[in-house]
Amino acid sequence: MAQLPTAEAPFAGDLPWTEVRRYAERRAVALLPVGSTEAHGPHLPLCVDVVIAEEVCRRVSMRLVQRGQLGLIFPAVRYGLTDFAAEFAGTISIPAEAARAFLTEVIAGIASHGFRRIGVINHHLEPAHFRLVHEAARAAANRTGAAVAVPDHRKPPVAPLLGDEFTRGGSHAGAYETSLMLAAAPQLVHEGARKSLPDLPFDLPAAIKAGARNFRDCGGPQAYFGAPASATREEGERLLEVLAEASERAVLDLPLAP
Ligand SMILES: [Zn+2]
Repeated sequence: MAQLPTAEAPFAGDLPWTEVRRYAERRAVALLPVGSTEAHGPHLPLCVDVVIAEEVCRRVSMRLVQRGQLGLIFPAVRYGLTDFAAEFAGTISIPAEAARAFLTEVIAGIASHGFRRIGVINHHLEPAHFRLVHEAARAAANRTGAAVAVPDHRKPPVAPLLGDEFTRGGSHAGAYETSLMLAAAPQLVHEGARKSLPDLPFDLPAAIKAGARNFRDCGGPQAYFGAPASATREEGERLLEVLAEASERAVLDLPLAP
């Protein structure tokens, strides 16, 4: 039987089922990237959260190999609840109940094929969305008995490592996400638009607590906040490593069920 590949991060969607079964038999950690299809300013594409989630999964998978373990990355969930950006072209928001039910079935489906440790790697930070991701993971874990982690980088000890803008709550399409994109998929960043955007410092969590229901109410008429112009690829590299390490730690903490 041929060795499973270890030089590159494996994507389940690119493999025949017979290969996927071998990963399950070898107790691979299943990684599920979760993002959104959502406006991210005039300089970034709709798929930002998916790109970041997939890149973090890829790095987690490479780190697991270095520890003598295997990861297998499942096809990303590309739609979520994205009410704040709903008015901007291309943004698709799925109501919480439908998104939760769908995600629960995806996670339970992965578990049903013998993957006993699952990392759900979510990078769409809208509070109601992140909540339903946690709920779906719990529901799938309860139903299947698999161990499911949802690393939450909004909290310490990870959040303080993600830069000033992130901790001050201005993390939508600003320096944080734009740096991540410059590192993960620079060909998708519109550099001309990015460099000309004025800084828009803002505390999104505070605005949401105060009753804002969309990005325009929050003071972001172009669906970005923070400082995209100051983003750098080097900072994106650093952020990706922080996020990958935190997610790796979360999946390694999962109990290896019999
Ligand atoms: Zn985003």
